[in-house]
Order: sequence, then structure tokens, then C-alpha cells
Amino acid sequence: MNLLAEYKNGNYVVRLFDDGTKELVTEDDKFIACFPDSIDLKITDYCELNCPMCHEKSSVLGKHAQLDAEFIDKLQAGTELAIGGGNPFSHPELVPFLTKLKEIGVVPNITINERHLSRYKEVIEELIAKKLIYGLGISLASYEESTFDFAKSYPHAVLHVICGIVDVDKLIDMGSEEHKLLILGYKKRGRGESFYSNEVRDKIEECYKALPRISSKYGIVSFDNLALKQLDVKERIKEDLWEERFMGDDGQNTMYIDLVKGEFAVSSTAETRYPILDNVEDMFEVIRIK
Ligand code: SF4
Repeated sequence: MNLLAEYKNGNYVVRLFDDGTKELVTEDDKFIACFPDSIDLKITDYCELNCPMCHEKSSVLGKHAQLDAEFIDKLQAGTELAIGGGNPFSHPELVPFLTKLKEIGVVPNITINERHLSRYKEVIEELIAKKLIYGLGISLASYEESTFDFAKSYPHAVLHVICGIVDVDKLIDMGSEEHKLLILGYKKRGRGESFYSNEVRDKIEECYKALPRISSKYGIVSFDNLALKQLDVKERIKEDLWEERFMGDDGQNTMYIDLVKGEFAVSSTAETRYPILDNVEDMFEVIRIK
């Protein structure tokens, strides 16, 4: 694997490799960041899929964000941006925006719903070829064989599922060593609040029980912090493995920015939001977990 970016953030060094590996190294007991090395960035509320659990309440009435916020030009090269929506591919300024990020040296990852994949496949392939995106998250919805084949063909593709929504049997059936999987927690926000039910709770439980089988099927399995809690991952793995792999709480070296509403927060599930400032260090200082 080749080194994609290396920079200092507070008391540690961040190294990003072209296979998606991220390494944080410090000589101290804990990592103290000066800015987020990974940012969730929402660029649109537009999406026509109308999923019943959508925590962003995205719809065909959703607006696209202006992508010219001042803080973007000042981002540290090597910062990872997880670009989402809404459907980020519906944003008319997506390609110029990605081109600008490439010039700055920012590393963009983007998420697409599986049901949008066939429509945007050519665009995605072009973006990959031009190195305008690195990570590609594919939110599984219909578990098509073609999706799993596509994910296999691109080494930076990561299949996404939400515990509480995931079809565990299909996930186990279709996964392989060549696939990477990210399990996200169920967000009781937006439409996800009213969609939450005993059925969702039971599916989280089902996912909890099936986790060893899921993990044995996929080459790499990772979690967001919400899923780590909902699936009790810390209690289920060896302490030294947790110490080695846990990337920190939300707000330790990450944050969320909603460019549509012009707000930032510690994470996309946080209730407390603040108006966007001109640089990311100042925003991070507001939400940082100390
Ligand atoms: S969950 Fe994703 S795909 Fe579904 S409506 Fe929301 S933004 Fe669209």
C-alpha cells in the first residue's frame, strides 16, 4: 500500500494509505486533535427514494447546499470528507466541488444508496478514474448480486448497512472475504424517530446475535460509534484489540457539517447545532470532546 497523506494534528501524526487504512500515531497517552481529521459533510437534502427511516428527512423538496463555504478552502490536506445527503450525486455542482477538493489535497469519500447505483455507475467510474473520489460507500437496500460484484471490483468500495434495517440473512449469504462492510447504528432522528418500532429493535437484536457470523464472512468489518454502542462491540472483543482499533469518540477528531442548513455539530445525531464559521479549527473548538 502507498502513502496517500501524512500530516500532524495536535499531538499525533495521521497517515492515510491508498487501500483506505488510516493510522494515528502518538507518543502520549491520548490523542489530542487541533482539527477534525475526518468530517461528515452533508451537501444536499434532495433525494427521491423517500426511505421511511431517513434520519435527514431527505425528499424531492430537499434543497442543495452552496458549496463555496470559506472553511473548505482552508482544510488541511489529507482531511477525509465523508460526503453525503440526501443523494449527493443529485447535486449539480458535485464534480467541480470534487475537483476543488482534489486541488486542496482533501480526501473525499462519498456514499450512494444501492438503488441509485445503476443510474450513477458511469459517473462513479469516471470519478474513480480521475481520482476525484477515494472511498465509495454503498448503502445496501436490495442486495443485488451486481452490487456485490461492483463492490468487489473497486478496492475502496465499502458496503454500508444500518442495524435495525439490515437483512442479516442476505448480508451473510452474499458477503465474501473480498468485501468490506461498515455497520451503522440506527438513528432515532428525522423519519427514523417515528419509524422506530419493536420490529427495528428486534432487528438490532438479530444483528447483535449474528455479528460473529457476519464478521467471519467479510474481509473487513467496521462500525460507526452508534453501532459500536448498539451492538455492544467493546464488551465482545479483547481489550487490546479495542485499544488498537478504536478510532475515538465523535468529537475527538471528527465532526459533522450540514452545508444545506449552514450548521455544524459533534455528529449528525446531535441536537445542539451551531452556525458555520470561517474555519474548521474554530468550529472544532466548539464541539471538541476534551
Ligand atoms: S436514507 Fe438515504 S437514500 Fe433514503 S431517503 Fe434518505 S438520503 Fe435518500
